[in-house]
Amino acid sequence: MKTLIVYAHPEPRSLNGSLKDLAVSTLEAAGHEVRISDLYAMNWKSVVDAADYGPDASNPLKVALDSGRAFDAGTLTPDVRAEQDKLLWADMIIFQFPLWWYAMPAILKGWVDRVFTYHFAYGVGEHSDTRYGERFGEGTLAGRRALLSVTVGGLESHYAPRGINGPIDDLLFPIQHGILYYPGIDVLPPFVLYGTDRTTAEDYPHIAAAWRQRLLTLESTEPIAFRRQNFGDYEIPSLHLKRGLEPVGRTGFGLHVYD
Ligand SMILES: Cc1cc2nc3c(=O)[nH]c(=O)nc-3n(C[C@H](O)[C@H](O)[C@H](O)COP(=O)(O)OP(=O)(O)OC[C@H]3O[C@@H](n4cnc5c(N)ncnc54)[C@H](O)[C@@H]3O)c2cc1C
Repeated sequence: MKTLIVYAHPEPRSLNGSLKDLAVSTLEAAGHEVRISDLYAMNWKSVVDAADYGPDASNPLKVALDSGRAFDAGTLTPDVRAEQDKLLWADMIIFQFPLWWYAMPAILKGWVDRVFTYHFAYGVGEHSDTRYGERFGEGTLAGRRALLSVTVGGLESHYAPRGINGPIDDLLFPIQHGILYYPGIDVLPPFVLYGTDRTTAEDYPHIAAAWRQRLLTLESTEPIAFRRQNFGDYEIPSLHLKRGLEPVGRTGFGLHVYD
């Protein structure tokens, strides 16, 4: 397995840093190839701006169109092209990050904004009566798998279906479905650690054992069963889920997951 780890934490000695290091050592010991995008260490530029498209940038700037044109011409900046190449190289992508303000750290969102360009991650494939582009189950990155490894300050009960923060599956839906499944990546159930601000050195061996176990079973883990867009479940072009496909009473993000 070729694994790319995209890691977003400013402190190498953090819990996130330890989990990233453990992923590298565990996967390499199991014979897998590993590459790392350590976003803080790379001083990753996290904002999209006209400099991303050089002298060919539109004025006024049109981010989607300019990014697609630069992608087609091979003139995206070298940092973005290198990350796209890593994604195409990988068959497994692990994202290691702390939950900050109910979302990924800004540097990681900026990685997505700049690397998932038009014509690479979106705006791919034909639009017709039966197809609405290649996305949600199809796309440039189809055939790959991804896993979110997320550390969370709050307790697990805070993220349960009736918990005050909302269910963790809902909070991660924009990343797992909107960002990763969109260009065709199959997403494995996340590895989530709760209450991490209270984690102690005594807790760490148990955490490490659980993480190692997930890492060594990545290839046999079933992905989340998100519904595919172009295979009959959705009306086109409204992209409404056809009535009656969901289990009785199901609403919200869960509509887009098979039973
Ligand atoms: C800006 C911001 C926004 C946040 N928003 C949210 C939010 O929306 N929801 C929420 O629930 N939480 C939130 N948090 C909390 C955040 O999710 C946690 O602080 C984070 O997940 C902890 O991960 P860390 O790697 O930074 O931990 P660290 O602070 O590095 O470590 C956590 C604990 O693990 C211990 N530890 C034990 N063994 C090890 C080891 N081997 N290596 C490293 N550390 C070890 C450390 O000693 C420490 O006590 C937020 C925090 C910040 C700063």
